[in-house]
Amino acid sequence: MSNPSLPIVHVINGRQKKLMQGHPWVYGNEIERVEGEPIDGELVTVVDFRNKYMGTGFYNSKSLITVRLLTHRQEEITDELIARRVREACAYRRFVKSRPGTDSCRLIYGEADRLPGVICDRFAGVVVLQILALGMEKYTQVIADALIECEHPDCLLLQNDDAIRRKEGMECFTRVLHGALPEQVVINENGIRLSVDVMGGQKTGYFLDQKDNHLFVRQFCKGARVLDCFSYIGGFALNAAAAGAESVTAVDISESAVQLIKQNAALNGLAVDTVCANCFDYLRAQVKDKQRYDVIVLDPPAFTKAHANMANACRGYKEIALSAMRLLPAGGVLATHSCSYHMPEDVFVNTVLSAAQDLHRQVRVITLRRQDIDHPVLAGYPESHYLKSLWLQMLD
Ligand code: SAH
Repeated sequence: MSNPSLPIVHVINGRQKKLMQGHPWVYGNEIERVEGEPIDGELVTVVDFRNKYMGTGFYNSKSLITVRLLTHRQEEITDELIARRVREACAYRRFVKSRPGTDSCRLIYGEADRLPGVICDRFAGVVVLQILALGMEKYTQVIADALIECEHPDCLLLQNDDAIRRKEGMECFTRVLHGALPEQVVINENGIRLSVDVMGGQKTGYFLDQKDNHLFVRQFCKGARVLDCFSYIGGFALNAAAAGAESVTAVDISESAVQLIKQNAALNGLAVDTVCANCFDYLRAQVKDKQRYDVIVLDPPAFTKAHANMANACRGYKEIALSAMRLLPAGGVLATHSCSYHMPEDVFVNTVLSAAQDLHRQVRVITLRRQDIDHPVLAGYPESHYLKSLWLQMLD
């Protein structure tokens, strides 16, 4: 049963529907009133305008997301419930773990695994855990113990060094909770070896959401001239090279990422040309030089972290799509991505297709893909579908 002694958050009329559909967030501006004195990081009961129970979750007045629901049922939040969610999350990943030549995947994807603010990635023997919501902080050990029980990692690294923590009113730090961190972490992804920087890299060290799309690019790359823009440590570029591309160029603005691409190409005995540059400038210069490619991948960071910046984000996606299309002859393939959940799929697709229209070129939509399945989408929580992956072929 829900705990009658908890403070009660009343949501305004009209917002109960999304909660009933399984949405786990209550924003500050969705709250009508609060009964009792909730403490940041502690549990509250959420009810609708008619006092109907909506769920139990963590309160944090410092976060825009004032309540993160852990359950929509009448059940008590215990260590065992949290541990069970971790076990369920790890068990679901067996589908990905059984892929040949793959030893890494996302184990916990926050709200979509019903563990708000908890991110956990497995990189070969190293499990990297991030706690990004205040209420989850006190369950760190419970989560760590369950991960060790399920995954038997050589090392469990608590990588609590993300700007989101500051916004939630938490400190940033990194600590090894179990085992010892090897000097170098090398993962296997579809048979390709990748050196990953779990301490100094972006996010947890590597973007596992693109694994399946990395594999997908291979079928277009035999004998092709391939350009991988926003390549990070070379996921697309290395798969293209492995598929027998004639040439592969990987471009990223981060010098440390470019160093890792070089290291990773050497690790696999593959040839990848690297360029450290701003892709907007690089693409423009390539157009000016009348360069030609058969396959181009665009995978920029989130241009928009807020809904209000959508127009700017669209301009960004369109600009790089326009440049890329100018570099692709008839038959050329463009794989273009948006990893911002603020960018709706239809808006993104229409933005990219409008670039082709502006150029008076017809395109074939090969497919529309999304993030790999270890980043599951929770029904009722559309924010969990964030990666859009649009594959086009230029027809003329
Ligand atoms: N394609 C990668 C992930 C890309 S993440 C993969 O499949 O794993 C986005 C990358 O864009 C980051 O590596 C970041 O360093 C880079 N980046 C950000 N802004 C950039 C810019 N203006 N020009 C080039 N690279 C940029």
